[in-house]
Amino acid sequence: MIEFHQVFKRYEGGHEALKGVSFGLPRGEMAFLTGHSGAGKSTLLKLIALMERPTRGQIILDDIDISNVKDRQIPYHRRKIGMIFQDHRLLYDRSVYDNVALPLIIAGVSDRDIPKRVRAALDKVGLLNKERQLPIQLSGGEQQRVGIARAVVNKPPLLLADEPTGNLDPELSEDIMNLFAQFNQVGVSVLIASHDLGLIARMKHPVIALKEGRTIRNELAEVDFA
Ligand code: ADP
Ligand code: ADP
Repeated sequence: MIEFHQVFKRYEGGHEALKGVSFGLPRGEMAFLTGHSGAGKSTLLKLIALMERPTRGQIILDDIDISNVKDRQIPYHRRKIGMIFQDHRLLYDRSVYDNVALPLIIAGVSDRDIPKRVRAALDKVGLLNKERQLPIQLSGGEQQRVGIARAVVNKPPLLLADEPTGNLDPELSEDIMNLFAQFNQVGVSVLIASHDLGLIARMKHPVIALKEGRTIRNELAEVDFA
């Protein structure tokens, strides 16, 4: 699903956030990206979503070399990816329903199909009864579930999550991770950045650990990668 070949990322100002990262996430696999704050986890996810471009190296997503994706094609590229953020990034003046419907409206899904698809996504995250609420009326864990429903409503083949449990207590964190595992069990590829090492160990999925932009542990290494 994802291949990184010797990927480097230097930000304007000179900071080198990734220094030759290579790995392959097979289709249908779920894996964790770990490392201390500043290790390069967010940068790696942003490169996959084309929120940033690599300085050097090759990134393949779904058999497409994404360095060839033109800026105007980025919206189509992003439809393959559901993104989940630590701070949810919900619209706080819109209902749960409207937050989840937004990606469908942007993708031009017909008005007739939107309600059943929104409700299917809310059902999967256990929030069907909250569709009329505003995000502020929900707990942190519920807000994150809305973020996940919004990410999966278009049925993307890949989910990317950046510290999705960073603001949650351990029990809620485990629930959220189990929710990702459920999507993975029906064939969605999942890559989760997290520094919750205890939780990651219990989930028993492959791990890539970054330190200062380099991989220090890579359970997704591929033999043909130099
Ligand atoms: P992590 O997600 O592991 O905390 P990041 O990918 O956010 O790490 O950051 C990696 C390094 O790149 C850090 O040193 C950070 O300060 C730097 N960095 C991140 N974004 C930018 C940016 N837009 N401009 C300059 N440096 C950045
Ligand atoms: P923190 O990261 O401090 O725990 P929260 O989880 O409360 O922050 O909020 C996450 C993000 O959502 C923040 O970027 C914040 O600006 C935004 N946010 C939270 N509550 C509201 C609100 N009522 N209206 C608009 N934005 C909000």
